Amino acid sequence: MPSEELIAEHVLEFPGGYTRTTGPVIGRFLTELRDGRIVGVRTAGGRTLVPPLEYDPDTGEAVTGEFTEVGPAGTVEGWAWVSEPRAGHPLERPFAWALIRLDGADTALVHAVDAGDVRAMRPGLRVRPRWRTGRTGHITDIESFVPEVTRIVSPVRTEYRVRPGKSLARFLEGIERGIFLGCRCGSCGKVYVPYRLSCPECGVAITEETELPDTGTITTFAINNLPDPRAPEVPFVSAYILLDGADIPMIALVGDVPAHEVRQGMRVRAVWVPEEERTASMSNIRWFAPTGEPDVEL
Ligand SMILES: [Zn+2]
Repeated sequence: MPSEELIAEHVLEFPGGYTRTTGPVIGRFLTELRDGRIVGVRTAGGRTLVPPLEYDPDTGEAVTGEFTEVGPAGTVEGWAWVSEPRAGHPLERPFAWALIRLDGADTALVHAVDAGDVRAMRPGLRVRPRWRTGRTGHITDIESFVPEVTRIVSPVRTEYRVRPGKSLARFLEGIERGIFLGCRCGSCGKVYVPYRLSCPECGVAITEETELPDTGTITTFAINNLPDPRAPEVPFVSAYILLDGADIPMIALVGDVPAHEVRQGMRVRAVWVPEEERTASMSNIRWFAPTGEPDVEL
């Protein structure tokens, strides 16, 4: 199963979905959860985003503000099996983190599936929420999803959005302090940033935390011609940046340079927002800007 894809997607989803105060869109979603309903928000293009976002990820436009109830049942599109749950996980027994597309939604949300056994998991598995008693308006108001008794095979899609787990929360704590927190695998020695709890190469748990500098090298990049609320102008550049000392690149915006001058091997440094404006969010980094050092051979 595409558990590696699931993990890799962490780096593709930036500000919108992390720890923050709830705006009207997320606030509505959480309020409805408290009342035992799951709602999505409609985009101008007619898609229903669940969980709701303030901006259409396809166009960058604000969403319509029209909410619609979805589910509560849905279809599993992908999953990663957790054989040894950790403190803070929703269940104390083995379970799956799954991408679940609720009926009526056009996007999938990530939640736990209490399937009992990994062999019960498959694409197209029909699940429905098991609600917690005493709901508070939090995503954990759904304790987990559980399989339905019937089997219906549904088409599989690969578009999804991942909410931050414990390791990403730890990474964002570092970002709030203006540091990149990575970690080193004790088995293969690879350094990962953002910080993560296990090594995707070896599968072992990672315990060694390491701080990385805020300088790095652009490995690949894309010039974007669609507006994005985070970007300073159009066209703008998003790039994979290999921080000095890291073994895998992270994705970020590039600024303070015309898009057509950005190149592979360019040396860059993070541009941070002023300390007093920082929160536990990737928006602390405006973008990466060229340092002026000579390019690096990749
Ligand atoms: Zn490793």
